[in-house]
Amino acid sequence: MTRLVLFDIDNTLLNTGGAGGLGMNLAFEEMFGISDGFANVEFSGRTDLYILSQGLRQHGISGGHAAYMQGFLRSYHHHLSRTLMERKGHLEPGFPQLLEALRRRDGVRIGLATGNFSEAAWMKLEHYGIRDYFFDGAFGEESLDRAKMLRAGLRRFAGDVAPRDVVIVGDTPHDVSSALANGFVAVGVATGSYTIDQLRDSGAELVFQNFTDWQSAAAKLAGEV
Ligand SMILES: [Mg+2]
Repeated sequence: MTRLVLFDIDNTLLNTGGAGGLGMNLAFEEMFGISDGFANVEFSGRTDLYILSQGLRQHGISGGHAAYMQGFLRSYHHHLSRTLMERKGHLEPGFPQLLEALRRRDGVRIGLATGNFSEAAWMKLEHYGIRDYFFDGAFGEESLDRAKMLRAGLRRFAGDVAPRDVVIVGDTPHDVSSALANGFVAVGVATGSYTIDQLRDSGAELVFQNFTDWQSAAAKLAGEV
């Protein structure tokens, strides 16, 4: 039996020190001449596709995200490769040890459940040295809505794994609700801007302050205890 443990990226695995948001803002500025274009868009727990379409809408740019995706992605990846170097970020506590401990377990596969556009997701993981732990994932371009994004991603790479064998680990109530909407196991970690209580109140079955105690967390995520 396979258990899939899927991680959110920002504020769950790592913190880029703002490199992601800055990269998106610079790409938006390059395309539309509007600086800080995403200033009034909530990023936390949202898919990049949602963030992009909100940015376009707030500035009255018509045509929808599909019309601008290719150009935006090209520019974003270009800027992100630089902002990742310029901004000082970090892996969250307990990484990469937690990933290493999960990788050693038979029957556990480690993937992503991230709102990031896929190429940007891999760039962030590469920059922080953890790319090779992940086999695939659900990514931001799959939907505006995080629950649908998860469903589409899983359909693509997971085959017919039972929902209760899919564990979603994230730092926001959006991560939790997207897991619950699909019948997956929701795990919250309070390394972002939400507390353990807020994550538990949003429906997370398991909550962690952080993964400093990665041995115990690995056993719980693997469903051994
Ligand atoms: Mg996050």
